Amino acid sequence: MVQLHDLQFKPFISEKEIDTTLQRMANDIASELQDEVPVFVGILNGSFMFVSDFVKKYPKPCEVTFIKLASYEGLKSTEDIQRLIGLTQDLTDRTVVILEDIIDSGNTLAEVYRIFKKEKVKQLKIATLFFKPEAYNKDFKLHYVGFKIPNKFIVGYGLDYNGLGRHLSSIYQLMETQHMTNIVLFGPPGAGKGTQSDFLKDKYNLVHISTGDVFRFNIKNETALGMLAKSYMDKGELVPDQVTIDMLNEEVERNAGAKGFIFDGFPRTKAQAEALDKLMDSKDSQINAMIALEVEDEILVQRLLKRGKTSNRPDDANENVIKNRIAEYYKKTAILKDYYSSQNKYFGVDGVGSIEEITRRLSKVIDAL
Ligand code: AMP
Repeated sequence: MVQLHDLQFKPFISEKEIDTTLQRMANDIASELQDEVPVFVGILNGSFMFVSDFVKKYPKPCEVTFIKLASYEGLKSTEDIQRLIGLTQDLTDRTVVILEDIIDSGNTLAEVYRIFKKEKVKQLKIATLFFKPEAYNKDFKLHYVGFKIPNKFIVGYGLDYNGLGRHLSSIYQLMETQHMTNIVLFGPPGAGKGTQSDFLKDKYNLVHISTGDVFRFNIKNETALGMLAKSYMDKGELVPDQVTIDMLNEEVERNAGAKGFIFDGFPRTKAQAEALDKLMDSKDSQINAMIALEVEDEILVQRLLKRGKTSNRPDDANENVIKNRIAEYYKKTAILKDYYSSQNKYFGVDGVGSIEEITRRLSKVIDAL
């Protein structure tokens, strides 16, 4: 991670990826221009590193020059008309390839076209290392594109944020500064995760995702996912990791902009925990805590059998299935306690008592995060 002024940036594109892409662009351009000796025109400041590395990879003779566009000083108009600095060379009848570091809205490119219309070049080609299709609102053709990237602010490899970051040899992306609270609510079946989630999600304005609920919803609607999950759930076994992870990713994506999540019933395996970390990382966020509701087995069985009378859940009605689910929980999920403990994120909470009492205990942990 890199701090520039007030903002933080995370690694986005490595030196190696840039290197490979430059080689590809150099080869593409050289093979298309055949025997032409092009004049590469770098647009300063941002393109200095790109141009320097690119021309070293260009396999044929070429010329290199730089220009700079500067806004007219004191210009009152909202139209950002720019003037050109540094074009001293006669480009009449030459093949000119503009080397841009990044094209987003396309405003600079429009200026380049306007300015080069006056030069009697043979042909004008545009090559850009980075291109943001979502931000582009012009229709000039871009002949060579290195990376298509999302519309997020990047620095490094010549690109700056308020003067800083140009020297970095790889590309970094702005971290979204949204602060989320993400909690894994843990505990054996019948520990009261669902009940407590209902209170906590309102109190802390979080989105509650229960993987069990999502599976049951899918079963009710007879979706392909539901049919697949059912065969495992009926026996009290875990649904395969990849199916569960894909489903969870989708649920999180559907709630983009959430202030945080309560994950209930997920993760249940180490692979799921790692996938969850990756997902949170992609949101520039993290799991803040795993809070485990601790309840003895005997109490769990009694609670679940009681719930089975009204919940219509087949896996609650049968004592053997219940016992299997509890056993499955301890067998497969104990490893998660270690996973989060080693990151100092594990908090055990006594899950026996009144609902309000337990909510209070959980809130105490969350408030201290
Ligand atoms: P629950 O409602 O959390 O007790 O989950 C009911 C059933 O859904 C479990 O017994 C599993 O078959 C399935 N399930 C829920 N969450 C997961 C998960 N994270 N990984 C695998 N299977 C799950």
